Amino acid sequence: MEALVLEKKDVLTLRDIELKEKLGPHDVRITIHTVGVCGSDVHYYTHGAIGPFVVREPMVLGHEASGIITEIGAEVKHLKVGDRVCMEPGIPDPNSRATQLGIYNLDPAVRFWATPPIHGVLRPSVVHPAAFTFKLPDNVSYAEGAMVEPLAVGMHAANKAQIKPGDVAVVMGAGAIGILTALAALAGGCSQIILTDVQQEKLELAAKLGPIRPVNVAKEKLLDVVNELTGNWGADIVFECSGNERAASSVFQPLRPGGVVVFVGIPLSPVPISIAEAQVKEARIENVFRYAHVYPRALALMGSGKIDVKPLITDTFAFKDSIKAFEYCAHMPATSVKAQIELPQ
Ligand code: ZN
Repeated sequence: MEALVLEKKDVLTLRDIELKEKLGPHDVRITIHTVGVCGSDVHYYTHGAIGPFVVREPMVLGHEASGIITEIGAEVKHLKVGDRVCMEPGIPDPNSRATQLGIYNLDPAVRFWATPPIHGVLRPSVVHPAAFTFKLPDNVSYAEGAMVEPLAVGMHAANKAQIKPGDVAVVMGAGAIGILTALAALAGGCSQIILTDVQQEKLELAAKLGPIRPVNVAKEKLLDVVNELTGNWGADIVFECSGNERAASSVFQPLRPGGVVVFVGIPLSPVPISIAEAQVKEARIENVFRYAHVYPRALALMGSGKIDVKPLITDTFAFKDSIKAFEYCAHMPATSVKAQIELPQ
């Protein structure tokens, strides 16, 4: 089948690749409709690796996907041919200790699309476990369905924060993950989000989506805004979504005593953190790696209209222009949040 293949760092081709996939009794076959381009896909393209994950052999990119079911395994009960679906891209070992504990996202044996050596889904079809395939509500489009994957990260972050109704949260970073985390936190009960970035265009786009106070940290001090909005008390929650080293080392400053910090963005190098700053506030610290158990809730929020991701889908490319899409994403303009690729049906 024709796929978008990362041959090695900086080299993408659209070419035929043989992918042997057998439909097991608990699997479904899906014709792919839409695939979002993720920062991680782009990073493998431009750097050939993310931390310990190194591209050593040609790999199909793409993991934020939606599509339609064309075949079901003999034991599949909850899905049928013709269902519009989105898919969780990580398949854990069902018998692993992590999976038994419910933390299947942390299973060391997890096979995650477009994380070497596992192929992604920028290709016409895929066979996937039915247990990790979710039916889209009728009013949720394929484009929105392909946004469930990045939204799931924000949902997991909101769960980790244990939001209470009325909480005020800082979200650092207004990329797709930052804005989706802000939307998940609002849906989870936050009264106000204070969103930081240095790209004014992204902040302005996000500010239209709810009670989100944009802070361009190149022009304004985050601490001043937090103090003004919280009567010098501080934010209940700080979500660090930028992965920026400077931002990540400053997370305790805007936090209220007894607040919680959630690290979502992954810094590329070690970050100096003041444990003393965390101690004097008895800060709770949570970490997020992908997500677990959140797809049905993310879809329910989209279906009910509580979360609208459509304004974040800023660019759509045809599959034949996939390489152009990746070149575009490698130098993404400040006005863009999420680019998606549509496959021919
Ligand atoms: Zn992603």
